Amino acid sequence: MSEKSTLVDPFDRVVNYVRLSVTDRCNLRCTYCMSEKMEFLPRQKLLTLEEIRDIGEAFISLGVNRIRLTGGEPLVRRGLVSLVDSLASYKSLRELTMTTNGMLLETHASDLKTAGLKRLNISVDSLDPKKFNQLTRFGDIDQWYRGVYAAKKVGFSKIKLNVVVLKGFNESEICDLVAFAIDNEFDISFIEEMPLGETNSHNRSETQFHSVDVKSNICKQYDLIETLERTSGPSKYMRVVGTRTRVGFISPISDNFCNLCNRVRVTADGRLLLCLGNENSVALRSVVRNHPGDQSILRDTIKEAIKYKPERHYFDPNRTDILRFMNLTGG
Ligand code: SAM
Ligand code: SF4
Repeated sequence: MSEKSTLVDPFDRVVNYVRLSVTDRCNLRCTYCMSEKMEFLPRQKLLTLEEIRDIGEAFISLGVNRIRLTGGEPLVRRGLVSLVDSLASYKSLRELTMTTNGMLLETHASDLKTAGLKRLNISVDSLDPKKFNQLTRFGDIDQWYRGVYAAKKVGFSKIKLNVVVLKGFNESEICDLVAFAIDNEFDISFIEEMPLGETNSHNRSETQFHSVDVKSNICKQYDLIETLERTSGPSKYMRVVGTRTRVGFISPISDNFCNLCNRVRVTADGRLLLCLGNENSVALRSVVRNHPGDQSILRDTIKEAIKYKPERHYFDPNRTDILRFMNLTGG
């Protein structure tokens, strides 16, 4: 299998990272991610785990060396551990990671580690039990803690917390979340809310809280120093002096990073989505269903699709141009 990605888009960006959404379903309903009443994909439209593995294999053979499993909530997908196990067996894959809300980690952390998952991003927007419950619409913070501590106990190294900051909801907790990350030697990234899907709980133009304000909030209590360290994601990192924690800032609204984009996504129903902020996509499900086991046609379809990767997104919190909720594509 090739070492370097052969996927290069029209803007000379090398695509070496794929996020595979394994389900659009979730055991929470975070207010910024989903509306209260959601319609989910009918089962027959979801890729099977074998189809997801075949698509993963095609990307790996084209030189992709990082895969993140996401959703919806990946851990509500039955059989997920077996998917991790089969993807982890591809030797040229440098990183196999997952983004999860953590609620089911108490049950699955150990099996995921054994199956070969390398790293975990765990989302949390508040450590206050009431606010956690409000922001997720019904989540129980104690279940979240049990999940996180289970992941730590089985030895996942460098867990990263993901926090979406919403003005008026959780900006007062930024330093508490950093303190929790420091106490546990986790990294933590703060994410600006993107206008994906129509929310009915709040007006996105009123809840925007930009990275620069998150940073000045943190600096009131902690010393941050610049670092050139990067992960495979769009976070810009700073180190908290005297700790093992890095703080990342993901700024899709205030500081466009599209020139560095190295990724594409596959939705739970098999659309190869070339940019989170655009609808350019190519159907892979029909390819895997009409040509089962044919890696060559899958590779050709992916190579052709990369020619249509848009140059950048244009998010405007005052408008919802993209009606697709985040749970379909994952983050
Ligand atoms: N359920 C898992 C979780 O919550 O970690 C994985 C899927 S979730 C869609 C992936 C990430 O996207 C989470 O960190 C979540 O906070 C973030 N997210 C969801 N909707 C978002 C939005 N509108 N803007 C910015 N980030 C969002
Ligand atoms: Fe579910 Fe993750 Fe979306 Fe929250 S952010 S509703 S946990 S998919």
